[in-house]
Amino acid sequence: MPGAPTFVVQLHRATSLHYDFRLEVEGVLVSWAVPKGPSLDPSVKRLAMQVEDHPLEWGGFEGVIPKGEYGAGGVIVWDRGTYRNLREGETMTDGLARGRIRFALDGSKLGGGWSLRRFARGGDNAWLLVKLDDDAARRDVDVTSERPESVDSGRTLGELDDR
Ligand code: MN
Repeated sequence: MPGAPTFVVQLHRATSLHYDFRLEVEGVLVSWAVPKGPSLDPSVKRLAMQVEDHPLEWGGFEGVIPKGEYGAGGVIVWDRGTYRNLREGETMTDGLARGRIRFALDGSKLGGGWSLRRFARGGDNAWLLVKLDDDAARRDVDVTSERPESVDSGRTLGELDDR
């Protein structure tokens, strides 16, 4: 969809392996670190720790962050595409402030509706990422293990680190 806001998910092997889930909102990438990555199963809630917003350009980064720099380690673009706000009458910014957003992803691996909501008992930065129950939901597919490769280069994180 031309003109639609973008999303990107970067698989990042820093101190620990995580998926950086990022949504373009008002010119920046609002970002969460998801240790286990997204699940297509609507019964699975994935912890998503909100981190600082990133510049849009960062969403195109694939490579190795050098030792000694913040987040040192390999990064691949695991999925990317566009999204649509599913909350009529509420902007993404207002939804983020309220701690509840719903959106539909149009990516290579991830599609359909998703929710992110702040998880009160987890602390200020803790959210839960959950697939909505729709046609794109899958209970029998582990998308993170079946599709480990970069959507930009086809490389896995291991192949990247070996360069
Ligand atoms: Mn990261």
